[in-house]
Amino acid sequence: MNNANYSSRISGFHKKSVDERIALIADMAGLNDTERALMGNSGNLDQEIGNHMIENFLGTMTIPVGIATNMKVDGRDVLVPMATEESSVVAAVCNAARQSYDNGGFITSMSGTRMIAQIQLVQVSDPYHARMAILERKEDIRLICDACDPMLIKLGGGFRELEVRVIDTLSGPMVITHIIVDTLDAMGANAVNTMAEKLAPFIAQWTGGRTYLRILSNLADHRLARARCVWRSEDIGGADVRDGMLLAYHFAEADPYRAATHNKGIMNGISAVVLATGNDTRAVESGAHAYASRHGRYTSLTRWEVTNEGHLAGSIEVPMAVGLIGGATKLHPMAKTALKILNVQSASELARIIAAVGLAQNFAAIKALATTGIQKGHMSLHSHNIAMMAGAVGHEVDQLAQILVAKGMVRLDIAEKELALIRGS
Ligand code: NAD
Repeated sequence: MNNANYSSRISGFHKKSVDERIALIADMAGLNDTERALMGNSGNLDQEIGNHMIENFLGTMTIPVGIATNMKVDGRDVLVPMATEESSVVAAVCNAARQSYDNGGFITSMSGTRMIAQIQLVQVSDPYHARMAILERKEDIRLICDACDPMLIKLGGGFRELEVRVIDTLSGPMVITHIIVDTLDAMGANAVNTMAEKLAPFIAQWTGGRTYLRILSNLADHRLARARCVWRSEDIGGADVRDGMLLAYHFAEADPYRAATHNKGIMNGISAVVLATGNDTRAVESGAHAYASRHGRYTSLTRWEVTNEGHLAGSIEVPMAVGLIGGATKLHPMAKTALKILNVQSASELARIIAAVGLAQNFAAIKALATTGIQKGHMSLHSHNIAMMAGAVGHEVDQLAQILVAKGMVRLDIAEKELALIRGS
């Protein structure tokens, strides 16, 4: 029984061992032996590593990892690990990639690996004068930033550009300094945050103002991953299918309500690879959605057009702050294995493949939506989940899933009845 009278004020919880924490929470929440054992099973992440990764660690939540096949990116066949709980995501990429494979697959590029950190300056009566004073110090700023990260400098990265903007806010004008730093194979948040914190007191001193926030921007528009692909009309079911897909895109381009779902589908693919490689899904997601709104109205991250030959041409451009080192990429054994499967040599190569996956995912979604509807494919995959939820095991899962699909009713109540019939027969 859950002890409803417990207090969430647990002093020194973080100082307890993992086992002590599990025992305490299990008692408070009334977990049974199976549930306790589940909390203590940290799967493919060593308990010791997990305990150092986050505060108050208990265990792990295991998410399925699948491989997207059929992907050809810049002439190279790539196996793409994807971590996702959603049934149709991996299948959608395999499907879209298969339809583009014979025509050469995806072509990708990258605008660079530069990240932005922002420094907020307030309490300046002459913000435009202050802006000039900061811009004049570009070489001093370079030295201050680069001194923070000798390793990054040795590898060829470091401070690249300076931008200073005056913005109007509810508290009056603010002077916002952007330091633009090439973080190479690191996502770079820690690297640029350190630089921003080091630089802020100098900015305050040079301008007579006061600095507050010093942190990277997730609108990583100096780190854009680009992918494009042409699907031949005959490979995708003909001109009608192509035209239906274009209408789906035009809908998303014009309407934020549709664009939100269109881009959610793109992020189904992108976030799954970002997660599988131990990168920061929230950083990439906030960057993508902010970029989709950059012209003042939220819109599609992809574009779809018809080539001179009548084929369907898709393209995507999206901020992609992912790394091969730093964060969990080098800590989580599964992330390291995923990177080995991908066989990428740089963060830029990883980012480009992820963009291609996003485009493939979008192709599959708008094709399904414009033709059979999303539920057909989705439900036939989801039927396995429903079968398991109803209690099916072993060969029963496939058998029950097929019955649900054949009946066109992928519902838990039907699954329970049908399972009883299977077992009775
Ligand atoms: P990090 O600090 O762990 O590693 C980066 C450092 O590794 C570089 O500064 C450099 O000194 C060194 N390095 C070694 N080899 C390198 C190479 N080949 N290329 C580049 N650098 C190399 O990690 P990070 O990438 O600075 O930070 C990423 C972490 O920050 C993620 O876990 C992210 O979740 C977290 N974070 C994100 C935000 C945000 O998105 N708003 C904010 C704070 C922290």
